Amino acid sequence: MGDAAWDVVVIGAGPGGGTAALHCARLGLNTLILEEHKQIGVPVHCGECLSELAVQNLELDLPEEVISLHVEGIRVLFPNNVQKKLTEPGYVLEKHLFEKWLIDEAVKEGARFESSHKVKGLTKKFQLENQFSNWEITGKGDLFPITTRIIIDASGVAGISSRILKNSNKIEVISGYQYEMTEVENDKYLDFYIWPKYAPEGYVWMIPKKNKRANVGLVTTKKSEKIKSLDSFIEDTYLNDKKKTDPIWKKSGLKIKPFGGTIPISGPRNNTIDDGLIMIGDAAGFTSPLFEGGSHLAMKSGKFASIVVKDALSKNEYSKTDLKKYETLWKNEFPPYHKILKGKKALYELSDEELSIMAACMPDEMNGMSILTKIGVAIKIFFKKPSLLIRKKVISVLLSFGYSRAKFYGW
Ligand SMILES: Cc1cc2nc3c(=O)[nH]c(=O)nc-3n(C[C@H](O)[C@H](O)[C@H](O)COP(=O)(O)OP(=O)(O)OC[C@H]3O[C@@H](n4cnc5c(N)ncnc54)[C@H](O)[C@@H]3O)c2cc1C
Repeated sequence: MGDAAWDVVVIGAGPGGGTAALHCARLGLNTLILEEHKQIGVPVHCGECLSELAVQNLELDLPEEVISLHVEGIRVLFPNNVQKKLTEPGYVLEKHLFEKWLIDEAVKEGARFESSHKVKGLTKKFQLENQFSNWEITGKGDLFPITTRIIIDASGVAGISSRILKNSNKIEVISGYQYEMTEVENDKYLDFYIWPKYAPEGYVWMIPKKNKRANVGLVTTKKSEKIKSLDSFIEDTYLNDKKKTDPIWKKSGLKIKPFGGTIPISGPRNNTIDDGLIMIGDAAGFTSPLFEGGSHLAMKSGKFASIVVKDALSKNEYSKTDLKKYETLWKNEFPPYHKILKGKKALYELSDEELSIMAACMPDEMNGMSILTKIGVAIKIFFKKPSLLIRKKVISVLLSFGYSRAKFYGW
């Protein structure tokens, strides 16, 4: 196949792009990373938590400076103050430093990184009629136009390749915003509040960081009310006397505003490949649908992409058909999205009273429930409120909680 300046161009320097580039460079590929922003990871659009299992799965040797806090797990809070724990260790990161570290590692392995390079156009080049040769990438930045044999689209929820090429379905997104707050005590658990009053079809979080800092935010489908709802949550809870502050990556002195972004929630796109092109992370729609964690999935899909790209380039065969192995890899490994989505839908149909009845029947520790414990939970729910099992499908709700653990790429 044809001449191109690069073996692989990675669009986006988030956790997905950084991981893909690191592994491509390690495999000896001539790798370029393009990032539209001047500074890696800024503005932060993440609650910043990552499980220990993800760190092990990706064989990351995390330096201390990218870690804000070592945490012990997640506490899920239901209405009427019913609380359940999902104990599994992890980290709250300084996410922008983590993303910078990943890119630095990729550069050490031989990749080239260019910031302030925004991709705007992708054109397929053909050698003979219908025989794909390479891509020409255009955009804003000194290096354009750029030619490459393969593109890894790691552009996040922007999904630049699907937007330009219209080669996959549209995905649904939810918006999430948070404040950084100070003087917030913690016991090393992340608090996830399933409190529909403040976050209809979503949840509120308190994610602790070092020095009693915390990310306090929410996701909800009620986009127009999100900031008002977040402010009311803070006002109505123990957080009401805590101060909001500027995160370390932001210039201080300006008015303190919540920060965040949008997250894919409808599961993977119906197509994640094209001739010489692989979509990873949020660009492919890979976030875990219940609690919207996406970094673990973005990094793992980046690693899968690098393996497939290396193999395809060594055979000099990288048309869409040649890249199908990528879809096999992620479909075999990633969580059963349809089950999580079904459980999530059932969850949001429960009233506050039904939510607290369901939760009261669950054990205090939700991690590592045996089959017997699960049957016990179902029996308890049946005796307390049979309609929850029969009409309200709470079993699928419980399954979707299970599939939101680190083991299933939940965080
Ligand atoms: C409020 C909020 C809280 C969240 N909390 C968590 C959490 O605690 N844990 C977790 O695991 N996940 C969380 N997520 C999800 C997580 O942030 C994403 O799933 C994850 O960052 C996806 O990684 P990515 O590399 O695919 O994309 P991104 O991190 O979005 O990176 C994409 C990169 O591509 C760049 N880019 C985009 N378009 C272009 C272009 N045209 N040209 C060049 N560069 C481009 C962007 O600037 C960006 O740097 C949260 C998301 C939000 C919004």
